[in-house]
Amino acid sequence: MRVVVIGAGVGGLAVARALIADGHEVECYERADSLRTSGAAFTLWSNGTAVLHALGVPYDDLGAPIDVLGFDRGSDGRKLMDVDVARAAARYGHPHRSTPRRDVIARLADGLPPGTLRFGRRAVGVDQDPSAAEVRFAEGPAVRADLVIAADGQRSAIRDAVFGDPTEPAGWGTWQALTPVDVETTRSRRGVMILGREGTCGLLPAGNGLLQWWFDRRWDADAPQPSSVTAMLKEHFGHWASPVVELLAAADDTQIEFFAHRRQKVTSGWSRGRVVLLGDAAHTMPPTVAQGANQALEDAWALARGLRVTGDLRAGLAEYERSRIKGARLTARVAGSEMTDRYRPLSTLLTPDALITRFYTRWLRMVSTILNEQPGEQADR
Ligand SMILES: Cc1cc2nc3c(=O)[nH]c(=O)nc-3n(C[C@H](O)[C@H](O)[C@H](O)COP(=O)(O)OP(=O)(O)OC[C@H]3O[C@@H](n4cnc5c(N)ncnc54)[C@H](O)[C@@H]3O)c2cc1C
Repeated sequence: MRVVVIGAGVGGLAVARALIADGHEVECYERADSLRTSGAAFTLWSNGTAVLHALGVPYDDLGAPIDVLGFDRGSDGRKLMDVDVARAAARYGHPHRSTPRRDVIARLADGLPPGTLRFGRRAVGVDQDPSAAEVRFAEGPAVRADLVIAADGQRSAIRDAVFGDPTEPAGWGTWQALTPVDVETTRSRRGVMILGREGTCGLLPAGNGLLQWWFDRRWDADAPQPSSVTAMLKEHFGHWASPVVELLAAADDTQIEFFAHRRQKVTSGWSRGRVVLLGDAAHTMPPTVAQGANQALEDAWALARGLRVTGDLRAGLAEYERSRIKGARLTARVAGSEMTDRYRPLSTLLTPDALITRFYTRWLRMVSTILNEQPGEQADR
């Protein structure tokens, strides 16, 4: 089958790889002039690393392992809760890793046949008839395919043109960086979310002396950025305890990227004829539960599997939607409903670590397709 993928992000590259391995003829069109190197780091949970394993993409040397996800209080640094995420990793047989985005992108692109990636091509719409779909671009000629996969992210032009499903601002934003900061977290296997009325600060080790760090605050998507982001962050978080104070002291505006988050109600139809949505294009969500990229990887794996096991385009797309929509919808609903400044220190403090650890282990499987496919797994206790 001839397949055109729109977007060379995590989802687009993963599905291109998976379909090429299954013998399809694949071209992946990306509006940027090269692969993305920005976006700091993201966490690949067991479901994401399970997909990388299934695709034959090595990841053991990327980023840093995460065994514990801690929640601390900003004002005094007190520990509120620790989720032992290593339990889920052991249970499902796939680790969690906090990984620079550029490294995952490069790994997914590594070894793709020459000519697969076409840069500087922005898709603007798709036409289709019973025999083929045709993608139009702002630059260059249109291309025809048996299947068009829209993996063009949360502001997907293809979703807007073909499906029209709306997204909306989530009401908050993230200022994020990936820098060498010498604090304990950088050397540890514990990521930490630091909570307070002013918002949230997150820290994750990302390997090679790098720390992924970010601040979340309520934010109007259309509001202008402050003239100095660092000064704004210091104004709100400057009185927090260590390590936030050290982090802010070392921060520099040029290192920090801003993301205004969006969300959507995930629909039950991700395909129309020969066009199908994948990744953020299908399920735009804020990064509250750090699952967007993991869900995109799951989509890629499930779409290739659906086409392979059914051997038929229409049946394969139906199988993809059947296997993926429930988990992605739950993930997007939880991620989209949480407000980053809804500060509940007491409930966090009073939740036993063992309970939240069991919940997390179960949650990961609830939102995953690939972890449910593993033979020999038993129900979570
Ligand atoms: C601050 C932040 C932190 C995050 N942390 C995590 C985390 O820890 N774990 C996690 O799992 N997820 C996380 N995410 C979410 C994750 O980044 C996304 O869910 C993931 O990148 C989605 O992958 P995708 O391939 O669907 O879309 P994208 O990564 O957005 O890729 C889409 C690609 O399509 C291209 N494109 C767009 N429009 C067109 C067009 N018209 N024509 C051609 N090409 C086009 C873009 O240039 C891009 O390369 C985070 C997101 C943010 C903003």
